[in-house]
Amino acid sequence: MTSPAPTPAPSPSQVGPCTGCQEPTVRYGPGGSPLCTTCAAALNAWRDSQGKPGSVRA
Ligand SMILES: [Zn+2]
Repeated sequence: MTSPAPTPAPSPSQVGPCTGCQEPTVRYGPGGSPLCTTCAAALNAWRDSQGKPGSVRA
């Protein structure tokens, strides 16, 4: 049995500053997003609070 690795470390070439907070995040490649998970969650929470349909797909 080998130990599982569900979240492999991203390639440095896929990492860039979050457009919201400038913290390093995976911006490129599969699963990449211009917003870090914190900012994406904050944006989704804000959208929910506005009562409008739609959400950011990571
Ligand atoms: Zn951010």
